Amino acid sequence: MKTSGIAADQRCPKPLDRAVIFLGPPGAGKGTQAKELARFFRVPHLSTGDMLRENIAQGTPLGIQAAPIMKRGELVPDSLVLKMVAHRIEQPDCMHGFVFDGFPRTVAQAQYLMILLRQNGYKPALVVHFVIDPALLLRRITGRRMCKVGGEIYNIYERPPQCDLRCDHDGGELIQRPDDREEVVGPRLLAYQRQTEPLVAYYRRLGRLHEVNAAKSVDQVKQEVLDIVRGSR
Ligand SMILES: [Zn+2]
Repeated sequence: MKTSGIAADQRCPKPLDRAVIFLGPPGAGKGTQAKELARFFRVPHLSTGDMLRENIAQGTPLGIQAAPIMKRGELVPDSLVLKMVAHRIEQPDCMHGFVFDGFPRTVAQAQYLMILLRQNGYKPALVVHFVIDPALLLRRITGRRMCKVGGEIYNIYERPPQCDLRCDHDGGELIQRPDDREEVVGPRLLAYQRQTEPLVAYYRRLGRLHEVNAAKSVDQVKQEVLDIVRGSR
């Protein structure tokens, strides 16, 4: 634990000291970048899905309430999610900031989060919005193929295998995951856009929104995100 603390100090002398929110459509690389940023600053990466699973696994009062709802495949009500978030960001490991991935989803949640942050003495959240041409995003997702043997990921448009639909490493068959099919992805992206537009507008109005070009490479996006976070102190 000690040595990793020293390494963190050498790599990033200034702590994050704030909440960073990642907004972006599924498949735009938001999750990867959120985890990268959290790792870089050594702060927790928070997703409400993980929080729910943790609460259920630990049998907390909130977990006990949420478990049957999730079992029925229903959406966990906002009140429960918000209580969970409130409890989570009060934990000592969040003291130097944290990264939110997939939360807030609505303006109401965002307003509540703003109050929570203020109550806990945090600076206003910084919002990183992943912007990508929907047609390009669709191609990225629907072009994805996975090796049945080793799980390697290819893209028939951007990173095709050398032999037709066979893995370069082990010759395994490349398959498309059911969730990556256009008839599944298309509606999901539309729903996301419809739901997120008001939230994006809300943060833009507050002057908290920073856009990154998610069409760039993972490393380029990572650099853009770092520049935003460092430039917004
Ligand atoms: Zn393979």
